[in-house]
Amino acid sequence: MNRDELIELAENPDLISGIYNYCDRWCERCPFTSRCMVYATERAESISDDPESQDINNAKFWQKLEGIFRETHALILEWAEEMGVDLESTEAEAAIVERGKQREEAKEHPLSLSARHYAQMVQQWFKEEFAVEENVHDDITGKAHSAEEDIDVTDAIEVIRWYQFFIAAKTYRALMGLEDIGDEEVSDINVDPFSDDDFDDEDVLLAAACHDSDGSAKIALIAIDRSLSAWRLMQNALPEKTESTVPMLIELEKLRRGIEQIFPRARDFVRPGFDEVGSESVS
Ligand code: SF4
Repeated sequence: MNRDELIELAENPDLISGIYNYCDRWCERCPFTSRCMVYATERAESISDDPESQDINNAKFWQKLEGIFRETHALILEWAEEMGVDLESTEAEAAIVERGKQREEAKEHPLSLSARHYAQMVQQWFKEEFAVEENVHDDITGKAHSAEEDIDVTDAIEVIRWYQFFIAAKTYRALMGLEDIGDEEVSDINVDPFSDDDFDDEDVLLAAACHDSDGSAKIALIAIDRSLSAWRLMQNALPEKTESTVPMLIELEKLRRGIEQIFPRARDFVRPGFDEVGSESVS
């Protein structure tokens, strides 16, 4: 897809602006595929592509990535010019160094550590309990249905696996926003700075950082809630494995509480499309 096609796609009025920012990237199960720019772009790429360009072992795959990089680079230069940003300035360099420090701090935050620890525990658990993942289906044959008749263990495993690393990624992103907020108390920040006649640039930047943190924290919390339910379904269906799953549920619960404490407004965040009035979607 070239730059003009991308711009044309972005102008489609049916798309919901930013819907992909706070979703769980599970496009297969998403009811908003027809309204999502990311999905439309990926689909357009895959339709126009030949199979070799999607094979990571084929040179065409890397050529395609190189092509995308060139298009992206041209767009970034254009955007920077439009916004009056000098990409060569020392201020930009200083901002990059500062961003690097923030990344490091967010990565080492106790919530990040906890989320990554959970992901490792899950990895280990599946390795020990289901030595060969493909055998999972055989292991649970005959007791696939749990207390919830319409959700089986295979679904539960899929949910756990889908969110295993996603939780850490979104927790980290939420914490990056916190780094931008600095010493301000999150709950003191006015998330609607334009409601105040005296707002300034600083207020707008703080609100934007807070907004992104809350959105990222909310999807992390949703992923945690769903993972907890999925683990419980596993326990019901495979009671002999209950004991070994408990530490992971406890880690998730600790993480859930920690995120809710640090981002007290996250649960109220309204995600574009998914949480808007009139939407019955639960994705
Ligand atoms: S909004 Fe839906 S379609 Fe778009 S990236 Fe997220 S999950 Fe995929």
